[in-house]
Amino acid sequence: MDHKRSILIVGGGTAGWLTAAYLAKFLDLARNPALEITVLDSPDIGTIGVGEGAFPTMRTTLQFLGIDESLFIRETAATFKQGIRFVDWLRTPSDSESSHYFHPFEAPFYTEDASLVPYWLLQDERHRRPFAEAVTIQNQVADARRGPKRPEEGAFTGPLNYAYHFDASKLGAMLAKRASELGVQHLNGRVTDIRLRQDGAIDTVTTVEHGGLSADLFIDCSGFRAELIGGALGSPFKSAKRYLFTDRALACKLPYPKADGPLESVTVATAHQAGWTWDIGLAGARGIGTVYSSAHMDDAAAEQVLARYVGARADAVSPRLITFEPGYREQQWIKNCVAVGLSAGFLEPLESTGVVLIEAAVSMIAELFPHNGPIDAPAKRFNTLMTARFDNIITFLKLHYCLSRREEAFWRDNVAPTSIPERLQELLEQWRYRPPNRYDFILDLESFAFFNYQYILYGMDFRTDLSSGRADFPNARAAEKLFQKIQLFGERATAELPTHRALIEQIAASA
Ligand code: FAD
Repeated sequence: MDHKRSILIVGGGTAGWLTAAYLAKFLDLARNPALEITVLDSPDIGTIGVGEGAFPTMRTTLQFLGIDESLFIRETAATFKQGIRFVDWLRTPSDSESSHYFHPFEAPFYTEDASLVPYWLLQDERHRRPFAEAVTIQNQVADARRGPKRPEEGAFTGPLNYAYHFDASKLGAMLAKRASELGVQHLNGRVTDIRLRQDGAIDTVTTVEHGGLSADLFIDCSGFRAELIGGALGSPFKSAKRYLFTDRALACKLPYPKADGPLESVTVATAHQAGWTWDIGLAGARGIGTVYSSAHMDDAAAEQVLARYVGARADAVSPRLITFEPGYREQQWIKNCVAVGLSAGFLEPLESTGVVLIEAAVSMIAELFPHNGPIDAPAKRFNTLMTARFDNIITFLKLHYCLSRREEAFWRDNVAPTSIPERLQELLEQWRYRPPNRYDFILDLESFAFFNYQYILYGMDFRTDLSSGRADFPNARAAEKLFQKIQLFGERATAELPTHRALIEQIAASA
């Protein structure tokens, strides 16, 4: 490096602080006199304050940042997340009937040399177990409200794959602390103007408190305001509304009636007539929010949906309205500015893809970072990879909606072929005759693997007809034995693993 490189991150939400800490660690800021990283944020504007569910990738990120798992659990009121339970997505519920399925983080078990999935597909539909229950033990463990590991197991590992639920604002504070230990500087200030150079790159961001601030690389983490990438550089926003209809959320926190009550280790996602409601068990309260399409439901009706969900204590909560447009920017890196977090795009809360997109962006910035030469050298590649990642997430999220047999207008509109991305239509056609396979996807562009698709498809009663190829699957007996073993393993694990509440309390106390 022949001169100092400076990075100015505008925004101190999850995106800003995660980006700062990650880059500081990856680029060894503390021992690199030629690098400077500063976070600028405005406490008056504040952060979005939602986003409570993560992916298992967060374990690797926290570990990489050198954040202790038990401290993270204690300081962010975190709990373990073993997957998502989808309630009433398949059919409109009646007084006597409700449907549900589970999307676990564990991959399906394999036989010695083949997938169990075809053998499950060839079983008698009337008698077989639900897909997730048949191919993993995680369903049983989560249903029994057990944790994914024992307290004595090492940090970030355990017999079952897991992620976390956490309090979003507490996570920001924890990441800020870690970033500052890693050498990141912090300025409080509000950006009021952004000056461009003649070539269109950012020259300075102007703040009342600190005047004009310059940098070699500006990272826009200013949330939905997208002050730099949208406001100053005018990067167009590509709406995904023709595929994903939800654009509003009402969010609240509901304290537990009893401090030591049972604690879910799954996100519960319950469909309603024009969207769905998330229910996340944090250590001290449940985070609950209703997501809906404003074209299909007004705010007053959504408030009623939320109140009905919360039940008797609805008067005790004060929901906050959040509006968003599902979509993203195809140009997330322009000249000396790259957007990370909500400023780059947001699709909707389903499957919790906000933080995982931040993780993907920041690891790419770190690994492609030009220590010398033009700062925008990685821009084209970065934009291609992020665009593909957003598009692929749209495909996966849409799968949840387009297989529904619910009767309300929102759900019928979601099934209309014009609302289904072409790629998904092609895949669905192929999956009528074979299950999703790793060759359907290019891993570096995906946030979800082929088995994630299997869990949604078969949870939603999708039919893959293998009957005419039955002879190609000769290991039926071995597969049957494994199905039985999975049930027994599940029972044993449920008996041996601690309750989720006990696990969290014990780990938090050890921090
Ligand atoms: P913000 O938190 O909004 O931070 C923006 C920062 O920029 C703030 O510090 C603000 O002060 C600063 N700023 C803005 N303008 C200026 C200015 N002019 N000058 C100075 N500073 C400025 N993600 C998940 O992973 N899981 C989930 O379960 C999930 N659920 C969600 C539910 C909803 C309803 C929504 C809307 C989002 C959800 N997300 C979820 C996404 C998640 O909330 C975000 O990805 C994450 O919080 C990162 O936000 P951010 O840092 O980009 O923006």
